[in-house]
Amino acid sequence: MASVYFTPGPAQLYPTVAGHLQNALDQQVFSQSHRSQAFKDLYRRADEGLRALFGLPQDYAIYFTGSATEIWERSLQSLTSERTYHLVNGSFSKKYLDHAKWLGRDAQVLQVPFGQGFAIDQVQVPAGTELLAITQNETSSGVCVPVADIHLLRERNPEPLISVDIVSGAPYAPLDFSQIDMAFLSVQKGFGLPAGLGVWFVNERCRTKAAQLEGKQYTGGHHSIASLQDQYQGFQTPSTPNVLDIYLLAHVVEDMLAKGLDVIRQETEAKAQQLYGFLEESALFSPFVQEKAHRSPTVIVADVLERPAAEIISILKKQGNIVGSGYGAFKDKQIRIANFPAISGQEVEGLIQLLKRL
Ligand SMILES: *Cc1c(COP(=O)(O)O)cnc(C)c1O
Repeated sequence: MASVYFTPGPAQLYPTVAGHLQNALDQQVFSQSHRSQAFKDLYRRADEGLRALFGLPQDYAIYFTGSATEIWERSLQSLTSERTYHLVNGSFSKKYLDHAKWLGRDAQVLQVPFGQGFAIDQVQVPAGTELLAITQNETSSGVCVPVADIHLLRERNPEPLISVDIVSGAPYAPLDFSQIDMAFLSVQKGFGLPAGLGVWFVNERCRTKAAQLEGKQYTGGHHSIASLQDQYQGFQTPSTPNVLDIYLLAHVVEDMLAKGLDVIRQETEAKAQQLYGFLEESALFSPFVQEKAHRSPTVIVADVLERPAAEIISILKKQGNIVGSGYGAFKDKQIRIANFPAISGQEVEGLIQLLKRL
């Protein structure tokens, strides 16, 4: 019997993926040229779906890259020459910061302990900051930045470009894209697709800044905002893209639109409530994130009390439920449970029943 993957990426595939994949194979989609009209139509279809799902303002462009990791680097190369500012509260936000340092940027940081979120009144973005980097959902610790806080940061900081990592919060997080300048995701988390595709939303302000820097410094090799934008105008990509993932994304986005993002959000919240409710009452587990407003609805991290986390993970695995281990130093003490749209309410209920019997 197939297992249920509660892992925070790669994750459980969205239920419609298998059917779409078979259709693509039947239509020989993966042998078609990425310069063909068929590919341009596919890119346009994905573009239209993503715009509708995320409510993107007109001026946004949508680019495809190899991964979200690539977008950390490309965004810094294409949009900054000197100073960046990072909100760091876990491993993924820290990696965005690391990339800025590797590129020699004057990378400033507000860092809070693992498991904590940001008191938004304490965020003081220095003058001259070109890019403010926010990780909306810290997959390592299960802490989210409430979207209202991101909107408030825009209000208080009109100058810097605001870049938001929505890799493990999308499509759930109701972010207003008119209040930020760019966002990005990779598809193996909330979209429930095979890994290997980064999706980058870039507004006009970003493109203007990128154009100013173009030619003055290294703005990013085979992928840069300039090269991606150049190709995007004809719904193409600089290099041969991951057509498989673009095809699946275009179709899964349409499935999500048909279901309704409101419904997906309600379901996500209901499942999250069930999981956190269980963790609070359990003698064996407790929610790692103390501040309720900062508890991620999409990646739920639990402290395992008294028993080794590996033992719990192994018992659950034998019962066909794959949960994630804690991140880094928390490997032995925590489990992580992804609550992405691909996971049904029934599957969450099933997991809770197993956890109760431990
Ligand atoms: C997984 C993840 C990434 C990196 O995604 P890749 O596809 O491995 O590049 C970046 N940010 C967050 C928050 C993530 O969860």
